[in-house]
Amino acid sequence: MSAILRVVRNVPQHWVGDGFPVRSLFSYQEGSTFDPFLLLDYAGPHRFEPAQAKRGVGEHPHRGFETVTIVYQGELEHGDSSGSRGTIGPGDVQWMTAASGVVHEEFHSEQFMRDGGILEMVQLWVNLPAKDKLSSPKYQSIVDAQIPGFSLPDGAGTARVIAGELLGVRGPASTFTPINVWDLALTPPQTVNLPLVPGHTALAVVQSGTIEVEKTLLNAGEMVLFDRTGGPVAIQSSAAARVLVLTGEPLQEPVVGQGPFVMNTREQIREAILDYQSGKMGRLT
Ligand code: MN
Repeated sequence: MSAILRVVRNVPQHWVGDGFPVRSLFSYQEGSTFDPFLLLDYAGPHRFEPAQAKRGVGEHPHRGFETVTIVYQGELEHGDSSGSRGTIGPGDVQWMTAASGVVHEEFHSEQFMRDGGILEMVQLWVNLPAKDKLSSPKYQSIVDAQIPGFSLPDGAGTARVIAGELLGVRGPASTFTPINVWDLALTPPQTVNLPLVPGHTALAVVQSGTIEVEKTLLNAGEMVLFDRTGGPVAIQSSAAARVLVLTGEPLQEPVVGQGPFVMNTREQIREAILDYQSGKMGRLT
C-alpha cells in the first residue's frame, strides 16, 4: 500500500499574466520527484468583477510537453499559431500537445470578461518521452459531456475519468504514456479506496473541502504525494471535497527546462529559444 512521501501546503499565490491567480504546487525545478508530471498550477476560486479588457496571458510558446487545462468554474479562451481558437468552460478539459512547438495565448472568454464571476481551474504540464518531444502539435478539446462520470462504491461520491481508467471506466484523453487523471467529488463521511498503479508517481490535489489520508488532514490548495508502491489508498472526506488525482508512469529521462520549454539537454533548450525567436514555432495571427 502506498505511503505518503510528502505533503505540500502553504504554497504562496502568484499571478500568471493578469488573469490567473495560481499556486504552483510543484514544478520541474524539483527534479524527477513528480516524473512524468512537470508542473501543476492550482487556481482556487477567485472572483473577477466585470471588465472591459480581457484578462489573461498573451503570446508565449511551449515545446517538449503537454499542457492540460481543467476548468471547474468560469470560462477561458485560447488562440494559437495554427489559427485554432476555442473556449473551455466548466467541466471541460483542453489537452494540448505542444511537442515541437506551439505559440498561443490564454485569456478569460469575452463572456466571462463582460459578466465577471468565479474562476477555478488547474493547469497541469505532462512531460513527453524524448522520442516524441519534436512530434507534431495537436489538441484534444474534451468537453464535459465526453468525460464519463459514475458513482463510487459505498456512496463515497462521484468520479469523472479524464484520462486512463478507474474501476473499469476509461477516460477520453489520449496520452503518450500511461497516465490517470481522476476528478473526484467525495461525500463525507464515506471512504474511497483508490487503486494506485504500482510504479506510478501518484498525487492528490484538494480542490475544495477537506480530506483525510493516512491520518493526515488536507484542505483546499494542498497536495499529497504518494510513494510508487501502488495498491489501495483510502481517502476520506470530512467535508464535501473535490479532489484531483494524478498517476503516471515515470519517463526516467533527463529533464532540462527553462520557462516554457522542457527538453532533455541544454543544447535542445538553446535550439528551442532560437526556433521561437526566429518564428519557426509560428506566430499568433
Ligand atoms: Mn501556455
